[in-house]
Amino acid sequence: MFLDLREIRRSGKDHQDFFFQYQPESLLVDIPSVQIRYPIDIKGEITLTGLHSAYVEGEITFCIYGECTRCLKQTECTITAQFAEQIEANNEDGYSLVNDKVDLTKIVEDAIFINMPVTLLCSEDCKGICPDCGVNLNDEQCKCNKGR
Ligand SMILES: [Zn+2]
Ligand SMILES: [Zn+2]
Repeated sequence: MFLDLREIRRSGKDHQDFFFQYQPESLLVDIPSVQIRYPIDIKGEITLTGLHSAYVEGEITFCIYGECTRCLKQTECTITAQFAEQIEANNEDGYSLVNDKVDLTKIVEDAIFINMPVTLLCSEDCKGICPDCGVNLNDEQCKCNKGR
């Protein structure tokens, strides 16, 4: 995913909207039995801020699916991640231009990483599974905790 500053400049504008559908090569999700549904949608806008600098901002929408961390039921969750970065020719603290192009891949993967939840829950108040008898406590009440 590249945004070419020279191409934008050649079109006579100083900004441009973009939309990508991204399919990462490496797995980005760290929750057991949970995966990302591909492709990931990325939309945003790039603004030229100098001859060799630009500002990109946008939104990443992705869906994770798999087993609820608490009750193991199949579930899914849509996550939105925002990014806003200043890109310079040689930016030691951030993202750099490569041949006057912005490489969105690293920016997007970093934003996904930061916004990736550590659990996937079927609902905020999922009661999970009883550790003693294995019953899904969302569906039925088990007898283990009676009188406790
Ligand atoms: Zn659950
Ligand atoms: Zn039980």
